Amino acid sequence: MSDIAQNLLAVRSQLPEHVRLVAVSKYHPAESIREAYDAGQRVFGESHERELTQKVALLPNDIEWHFIGHLQTNKVKYIAPYISMVEAADSLRLLREIQKQAARHDRVIDVLLELHIAEEETKYGFSLDDCRKMLEEGEWRQMPNVRICGLMMMASYVEDVEQIRAEMTLAADFFDEVKQRFFADAPYFKERSWGMSHDIPIACQCRSTMVRVGTAIFCERGY
Ligand SMILES: *Cc1c(COP(=O)(O)O)cnc(C)c1O
Repeated sequence: MSDIAQNLLAVRSQLPEHVRLVAVSKYHPAESIREAYDAGQRVFGESHERELTQKVALLPNDIEWHFIGHLQTNKVKYIAPYISMVEAADSLRLLREIQKQAARHDRVIDVLLELHIAEEETKYGFSLDDCRKMLEEGEWRQMPNVRICGLMMMASYVEDVEQIRAEMTLAADFFDEVKQRFFADAPYFKERSWGMSHDIPIACQCRSTMVRVGTAIFCERGY
């Protein structure tokens, strides 16, 4: 069994049955993705449009691609024909562009709203207040080609387990609020995407439904 196949098994063994695994393959070559694919993995996450486009051309078309990084509005048109989920929708402007490009391809694109909860300055995402405000204003209701399926966040990259837990708990509580206020009748609004290689168990305790795992599957990034 290849290292990647073994790593996949090890990661999956940590996940409750209802938690989906997004294999984050950014910076790793198509051959590595192929190995994971051959081991049964079908959902992959990438964070750069160019890199993703190149890989899509080389790999089987039943792969479900998630865009997990900051997506510039001018890049939406390139991925709109095939992307399964935009996990890090971080502005109304981006939602508008996804709506426009999805409509052009006669598709509905699933998105997650990215929350900015971590302390790091550099992270993108809605503050909880901005997210509430955006949802209250309601323009998203006029976006038939955008389906908001839940929330995504990255916890602070710290050793302190309690800090990570506090941030993920805040996100999970906010999910409940948003679900109740805006998506009570929308069964598809159910995803909570948090958890990366170093914080998978905490994420699962904090009600994650989808973990995005790179290093633990593909080893250190090759850059
Ligand atoms: C790179 C990345 C991951 C995966 O991180 P690992 O520590 O390699 O598991 C998850 N989410 C996002 C948004 C990323 O950019």
